[in-house]
Amino acid sequence: MRTIVLTTGGTIEKVYSEQEGSVVNAAQKIGRYLKQLRLPDRDVEVIPVSNKDSLEMTAEDRAELARKIAEIVGRCDGCPIVITHGTDTMTETGRYLQRAFPQPGVPIILTGAMRPLGFEGSDGLQNLTESLLAARLLAPGVYIVFHGQVFAADRTRKDREAGTFVAAEPD
Ligand code: ASP
Repeated sequence: MRTIVLTTGGTIEKVYSEQEGSVVNAAQKIGRYLKQLRLPDRDVEVIPVSNKDSLEMTAEDRAELARKIAEIVGRCDGCPIVITHGTDTMTETGRYLQRAFPQPGVPIILTGAMRPLGFEGSDGLQNLTESLLAARLLAPGVYIVFHGQVFAADRTRKDREAGTFVAAEPD
């Protein structure tokens, strides 16, 4: 079975830039880390869509993401989709995708990290691994999977103090 991973950037994929003295979205990382996982019956296809901090995502970036999803659903029947994304606007994109795909036919899972993949204390590989498993277990819908939790995309928010996602009422 195949799972599609769409990458959009965010902290999970940030790297340290010596020139800028800060972490930036500059290189693709997800494929490299997925190769570390043992997934004997899974074929994971990684498709980069964008690579930016989610606070800089535009309406056009989200429309492009939706176009990619529609294309995948058309060519890969029943393939679940995992999207790596910045945490600051993950719920915004989740709600957008819920409106774009009210009956998606497959699970569409958004995930990310509070610390970049490869950095000490990173939660990136944990969230990626949990998302891949959730993608094969969940009913069709749009979800956020983070720190061992699963939320419908419109029933969660980022809690900055706690450094994670928590349950929330839909707007
Ligand atoms: N500002 C980052 C983003 O939303 C935060 C993160 O990914 O955790 O892309």
